[in-house]
Amino acid sequence: MSVVTDCIFCKIVSGEIPSQKVYEDDLVIAFHDITPKAPVHILVAPKEHAPVSVADITPENSHLATSCLEALAKIAKNEGLTGGFRVISNSGPDAGQTVDHLHFHLLGGKKFGPGFGI
Ligand code: AMP
Ligand code: ZN
Repeated sequence: MSVVTDCIFCKIVSGEIPSQKVYEDDLVIAFHDITPKAPVHILVAPKEHAPVSVADITPENSHLATSCLEALAKIAKNEGLTGGFRVISNSGPDAGQTVDHLHFHLLGGKKFGPGFGI
């Protein structure tokens, strides 16, 4: 597995940094965001370091993104987000990506306004 030693999310996968884990399988880990932007704010990421963002998804690694989305659907159900939820993946500096390890933000537990502001 590709691991980057100075990557926060790789350290969460290895257990070096503690997290509030809500889901884990062979390929995916999910945990509560440390600075939640909604009542439910969970990060869903592949355990593997690559791809680092959606911009890096290729036919060779796209199964990791798919696995994240499959996990995300299960987590949303477990969290009781029956009224809906929002999924965001920031890719690159213009989007404000701060952790260069692919991840999807699962946001819910409130009614979001129209558009993309949270
Ligand atoms: P982004 O800015 O889209 O790359 O998202 C990175 C997210 O990781 C931010 O929402 C941070 O609050 C979150 N984050 C950073 N460090 C941790 C941590 N140790 N545990 C949980 N979430 C974290
Ligand atoms: Zn990483």
